Amino acid sequence: MTSSESISTEDVRLRPPSVDQLLAWPVMARLSAIHGRPLVLEAVRNLLAQWREQAEPFNDTDFAADVEQSVLSTVSPSQRRVFNLTGTVLHTNLGRAPLPQEAIEAMVAVASGASNLEFDLEKGKRGDRDDHVEDWVCRLTGAEAATVVNNNVAAVLLVLNTLARRKEVVVSRGELIEIGGAFRLPDIMARAGCKLHEVGTTNRTHPRDFEEGISSRTGLLMKAHTSNYRIEGFTAEVAEADLATIAHTHQIPLAVDLGSGSLLDMTTLGLPAEPTVRGTLEQGVDVVTFSGDKLLGGPQAGIIAGRRDLIAKIRKNPLKRALRCDKQTLAALEAVLRLYGNPDIVAQRVPALRLLSRPEPAIRQTADTLIGPLSRWAGQDWHLDVTEVRSQIGSGSLPLDLLPSAAVRLTPQGGNKRHRGRQLKALSSRLRQLPIPVIGRIADEALLLDCRCLEDAGPLVAQLEAGGSEP
Ligand SMILES: *Cc1c(COP(=O)(O)O)cnc(C)c1O
Repeated sequence: MTSSESISTEDVRLRPPSVDQLLAWPVMARLSAIHGRPLVLEAVRNLLAQWREQAEPFNDTDFAADVEQSVLSTVSPSQRRVFNLTGTVLHTNLGRAPLPQEAIEAMVAVASGASNLEFDLEKGKRGDRDDHVEDWVCRLTGAEAATVVNNNVAAVLLVLNTLARRKEVVVSRGELIEIGGAFRLPDIMARAGCKLHEVGTTNRTHPRDFEEGISSRTGLLMKAHTSNYRIEGFTAEVAEADLATIAHTHQIPLAVDLGSGSLLDMTTLGLPAEPTVRGTLEQGVDVVTFSGDKLLGGPQAGIIAGRRDLIAKIRKNPLKRALRCDKQTLAALEAVLRLYGNPDIVAQRVPALRLLSRPEPAIRQTADTLIGPLSRWAGQDWHLDVTEVRSQIGSGSLPLDLLPSAAVRLTPQGGNKRHRGRQLKALSSRLRQLPIPVIGRIADEALLLDCRCLEDAGPLVAQLEAGGSEP
């Protein structure tokens, strides 16, 4: 608020002006002109109600400032960019895979107007939205056909509901997975209208368990990639090829939920092996489901690839209409898949792959450049150094910390353990309040900022330097 807008002769009074009088103040008129009268009215009413609960005189200047702050906070975007320095590359809470420039441009190109989303430009008649990506998925995976829905859970739901509604689905007990709390395979199965038939034990399942589990009620054999945990020791699982043989002997399809489902051999990037979609289909699996925004590095989507007749059935399920994805997603996915068409560039052009395979020395270099600006910003209560850490892939891929990385470590100095704990929380909170919030992690009584996902430190340094040196 500028001084020319100062509001009344008396700054402090016992009773507030009426709502109409308040809205007539120049500061309110200015806010209404920019942000609309309803939001200003809402703020005025809320703050008046708050004022009534306190037994204090009414201060015009304070009230005007509070209204302005409240309106500005309401209109500031809720979802914003953040710096992911958690060390988890595909962080579900932070939006998973960053998109390649090509995908962003493809989304923008279709977002602002009409597109041939479901229109065949050659024939001049209705097309299918899957057409934009199906050929690419088939080319990259060897599948006969493919369809795309909103996310991988939707893909699993749709496969189950299409292929095994009112029937039994035979699954190994060792694969009844829960992902991120909200997705449990047994729950999805029930919602899909299927009856779960568990076979084997948690640690061991044999081919004969599946053989014995199959009956006239069986609609589907299913295998879920246990991506977010690992059962070690005395274990046995049935290989896909053997499962496929069992399934096909009984003329039942086999579905595999791959979760991440990679389109290339991750070991070529120096990363831990993950089953590829192509490799899984080559085992004789009939349908696979996988996410668009995990190792693929694209937008949120669930991809279903496999046998042509089964994909055709899946596409005809009315639930497909409820689970379909929008034109922006399809545009982004198409652009990402196109990058996979050229194996020489994909690892550099798809940010998720580039970040996952980023060499430790480059990460360390970034961390080094942050030490100065961060220590000036944090103040003298902190000791900073660069330390070796391990990043995680995230999103249910291999839960182990596997990727050698480097982090800036901020360690509070002095005070007792409780005091240092409070300092750590306060510093994390200050980092979250920066214009582009910075999200790190607290471990071993220090705040770690893993620099793997920070390819350009410039914007982070700039906002630290703009923020002054002391809290
Ligand atoms: C991640 C995951 C899912 C869920 O995929 P979303 O794309 O998050 O819906 C399902 N199954 C497995 C095995 C997964 O790893």
